[in-house]
Amino acid sequence: MESSAGYVYIIGAGPGDPELLTLKAERVLHEVDVILYDNLVSDELIEQFDALKIYTGKRKDKHHFEQDAINEEIVFHAREGRKVARLKGGDPFVFGRGGEEIAFLRKHGVAYEIIPGITAAHGASAYTEIPLTIRHISSSVAFCTGHPLDKIHVPDADTIVYYMVASSASEVAKALIKKGKEEKTRVAIVQNATRYNQKIFAGTLGELKNKDKKVVSPALIILGENIKEFIEEYWFEKKKKVLIAGDGAGKYESGEYVVVRYPCNESHSTEREGMLKTVDDPVAETMLLFPDKYAVRYFFNYLAGNNVDVRDFVNTVFCPAGIAASAELLKHGVLPDLCFDAVTASDIVMEITELGITGESILVPCPGSVDEQFVNELAALNNSVTLLDVSVHDTLGEAERIDLDFIDEIYFSSPSCVRSFSALYREIPENIVVMTADARTEEEYTTLFER
Ligand code: SAH
Repeated sequence: MESSAGYVYIIGAGPGDPELLTLKAERVLHEVDVILYDNLVSDELIEQFDALKIYTGKRKDKHHFEQDAINEEIVFHAREGRKVARLKGGDPFVFGRGGEEIAFLRKHGVAYEIIPGITAAHGASAYTEIPLTIRHISSSVAFCTGHPLDKIHVPDADTIVYYMVASSASEVAKALIKKGKEEKTRVAIVQNATRYNQKIFAGTLGELKNKDKKVVSPALIILGENIKEFIEEYWFEKKKKVLIAGDGAGKYESGEYVVVRYPCNESHSTEREGMLKTVDDPVAETMLLFPDKYAVRYFFNYLAGNNVDVRDFVNTVFCPAGIAASAELLKHGVLPDLCFDAVTASDIVMEITELGITGESILVPCPGSVDEQFVNELAALNNSVTLLDVSVHDTLGEAERIDLDFIDEIYFSSPSCVRSFSALYREIPENIVVMTADARTEEEYTTLFER
């Protein structure tokens, strides 16, 4: 079959820390039309890009694809003439099935290139201060799969890294001992390498054998004398892990902190409360204007939280502003009726003016700050504008829940962030330092968390 003008990039996303993406990958991800990403790719990393994003991983709550379906999907988008990024955790050619994907692309005459990524072993090694090779101690390294356990290989290498070891630590240790490894062999299990919740266990195979501990995925095991170099106070451990709810403050940008984002909504305007409404009568709304993709996302959360069916908006024209908002709407199974090219408030108003949109009842889902001028200008065109407060209902999926056990500090940038945070987390452990942007935020925090 003829190849189309489409093009595929097979890209490694690195082990988790979003900054461990290559410059090349970052540039390409900004340029492509579609990104197909797997479950090891962090949400924080993928959020930055505007392409249509298709999740192909295997999280229990989300739809996922089998490998054949992924291959078909990549080729389908390429044939449509799109630039496609296939984004995988770590490196695509280290237990990443990148080889199978390019074989499929070759067979179908689709042009592609490959952008390597930092593989988990390298991420884990650097972020735990365990060198994979050390002069006179370990002079060879092997990467192996630890799955299935009964077929585990023990190659003749000084350092062995086992990927895919999500079972109990004791089972892994027993399997390795059975294969001839001595009980005194040094071993380290690294979970969530390079992420805020990185955790390491270091010891010997013998110690591990008696530990009935579940290995939390993603995790890998490093085996060898190089583990002797492990110290409890390694550089990444010493960094403060801060959770930022809302917009960050300057002091967290220094690199001294490991930042975890809690994507909640901002509002600084005191007018906001008065301007926001709830949906009383979906049928009466003639137009739904989504200023950005977050408006779409939170709008659907709002509907779910309030038992409103999207089909109740029978008379409503769905208008996303910009390609990211359109893509987000499509993800929820709604074809946009009218897409604005503009993404800034003033440009949207200009387009609305040019299209002669007037006399409409416009509903604007509003997760972010309220731009009063925007509202006034829409109203000046003889439209009745309602801002829909969707902020309180922004619940994150289970998979994205942040594990507070690893957090040293939390920063709230506004009272609405405290509210949205409190909807998910009832308590904040005592040992966590809490900072707030201003007096009103502080007040909201003391009220909601009774501190
Ligand atoms: N292509 C990937 C590996 C995919 S296989 C790479 O090059 O890293 C999936 C396995 O990778 C997981 O089971 C785990 O063993 C390992 N892995 C991926 N990310 C990891 C992380 N952040 N911490 C520890 N192990 C990780």
